[in-house]
Amino acid sequence: NRQVILKNYVSGIPNENAMDMKIGTINLRLPNDSSGELLVKNLYLSCDPYMVTRMRELQGGLVEAFTQFTLGSPIVGFGVSRVEDSTHPNFNKGDLVWGMTGWEEYSIISSPETFLKIEHTDVPLSYYTGILGMPGITAYAGFHEVCLPKKGERVFVSSASGAVGQLVGQFAKLLGCKVVGSAGSKEKVDLLKNKFAFDEAFNYKEEEDFDAALKRYCPEGIDIYFDNVGGKMLDAAIVNMRQHGRIALCGMISQYNLKKSEGVHNLLCLTTKRVRMEGFVVADYYHLYPKFLEMVLPLIKQGRMVYVDDIIEGLENAPSALVGLYSGSNLGKPVVAVSHD
Ligand code: NDP
Repeated sequence: NRQVILKNYVSGIPNENAMDMKIGTINLRLPNDSSGELLVKNLYLSCDPYMVTRMRELQGGLVEAFTQFTLGSPIVGFGVSRVEDSTHPNFNKGDLVWGMTGWEEYSIISSPETFLKIEHTDVPLSYYTGILGMPGITAYAGFHEVCLPKKGERVFVSSASGAVGQLVGQFAKLLGCKVVGSAGSKEKVDLLKNKFAFDEAFNYKEEEDFDAALKRYCPEGIDIYFDNVGGKMLDAAIVNMRQHGRIALCGMISQYNLKKSEGVHNLLCLTTKRVRMEGFVVADYYHLYPKFLEMVLPLIKQGRMVYVDDIIEGLENAPSALVGLYSGSNLGKPVVAVSHD
């Protein structure tokens, strides 16, 4: 059973070598009789920004919400898997499931009740790490429940071509909002405008002054800012908010690898403009998953929502796929295909 093992905790900006992950092999074990465990074969593994924060030596501050991975063990993340052997009454051999699994070819799952069964297989299975998985419910809950959007409002999304961002932009368009996105390359900007039908998009790496860029791309101001990056972009968005605007603090990828957060300086604008800024965690919204699935599956099948993931073949390429999130080397959500059968 090949695994991606964490050798050392890391600090600062991760790079593939400094992250000290290695591919190791152990013998496969079977679930113990009547233990309630499952043996699953992992098909797709999800690369998510929060995972690197679980590789940090020192926890606290920015990343206190996350527990550390265990040294010498495979790292853990969301994945799509197939049940190979089950001692749990609710799962049978052959069931397709998604949930938290190991970065390895096969995993023993000791808490199968945290897994969701995949009933709809007429869409690509990798979607259950993205649009139909954790990022999907994050985008849905963050936009609809936290931002409370109204038709015609002006929405700005950062890291807009990522798993969450591309979905927020499309939910906003479906509602009749005007949507602007930022992303880190021309290719990503093209994707936003041509594939996801954003009204406007810009490459933030080409902008020296984010405030000026937002004034140019959002000349009427912003009713809803869906923040995936934090830092300087958040500070600039705050200045450009309209009266009674809402900011959803979804994630702050620009801050995860800093020893000290950059800080936000323009908070007074929240007071004068009566803006509500709210953080949220997807774990509080999983009860909405059935309703979300009922809404989003037809949209995918009718072609009214599209989704782009970036499939990286082979477990051995998983460490570089994960690290690539921090340089933006992915086009769409990075997913590691461990096995196609
Ligand atoms: P993303 O695709 O948005 O994250 C990866 C992308 O972030 C990269 O491709 C890169 O794109 C961009 N990026 C990397 N470094 C920086 C930087 N320094 N400044 C600006 N952009 C950067 O991931 P997801 O869609 O999975 O998640 C979006 C956000 O939501 C993340 O911050 C994540 O941590 C958070 N999240 C929060 C949840 C919650 O419960 N609150 C649940 C799930 C995710 P580019 O080329 O455009 O720079």
